[in-house]
Amino acid sequence: MAAESSGASVAALTALVRADLDLLNWRRRPGWVVLRRHAGGAALLDVVVIGAGHAGLTAAFGLIRAQIDNVLVIDRNPAGRTNQWSTFARMRTMRTLKENTGPDLGIPSLTPRAWFEAMYGADAFARMERMPKDDYQAYLEWYREVLYLPVRHDTAVIAIDPEGATDADAPIRLRLRGAGVASETLDAREIVLATGL
Ligand SMILES: Cc1cc2nc3c(=O)[nH]c(=O)nc-3n(C[C@H](O)[C@H](O)[C@H](O)COP(=O)(O)OP(=O)(O)OC[C@H]3O[C@@H](n4cnc5c(N)ncnc54)[C@H](O)[C@@H]3O)c2cc1C
Repeated sequence: MAAESSGASVAALTALVRADLDLLNWRRRPGWVVLRRHAGGAALLDVVVIGAGHAGLTAAFGLIRAQIDNVLVIDRNPAGRTNQWSTFARMRTMRTLKENTGPDLGIPSLTPRAWFEAMYGADAFARMERMPKDDYQAYLEWYREVLYLPVRHDTAVIAIDPEGATDADAPIRLRLRGAGVASETLDAREIVLATGL
């Protein structure tokens, strides 16, 4: 479908989403979670979401919308190649209905349909039976960008350290491995496992 796409319409939709979110005070109010620090003074992340697929991105949006904004999403794959739709899935279209919503969390301009119609027009949406998987992945990429979601790509979580697991106040330590980083740790108050099937 790329040949018929309209960059101008997507830019207009991006502006509309940001205006809608601004009306909802998106990122304009400070977070309500009290910042906690390590003994050394460094700030602790409130939530690390592991996995930047459909679920992880939506979780990050939901958290930030709830003003829990000290959040980081980590994915072992590069941007644009996060999950099956851009890698090993062999079908051409999604199995799910084209009208499905979800990641938008109730904001109409953020739905897959709004993005698809901005790209290809309302007629193309009406004619289509199921959304091509590549388009759905492109929608997720746009979603990440339009919301400025903080995603660190090319970084795998290789262990979740149980140290201090019996102490509710102890941070959760993640061990990471990524491009150019042999081993690194990251501490968070809470984690969300959105690692897929
Ligand atoms: C071939 C195929 C086709 C499908 N088609 C549909 C469909 O049409 N409609 C539908 O609703 N569902 C479909 N599904 C189901 C689909 O998996 C889910 O709907 C959707 O991908 C779930 O999103 P998710 O975010 O939970 O997982 P995913 O999209 O799988 O995302 C998980 C992410 O976690 C990352 N990750 C995993 N482990 C780590 C780690 N240790 N460290 C860092 N990052 C990590 C991965 O790189 C990935 O990006 C399909 C599944 C498959 C396999």
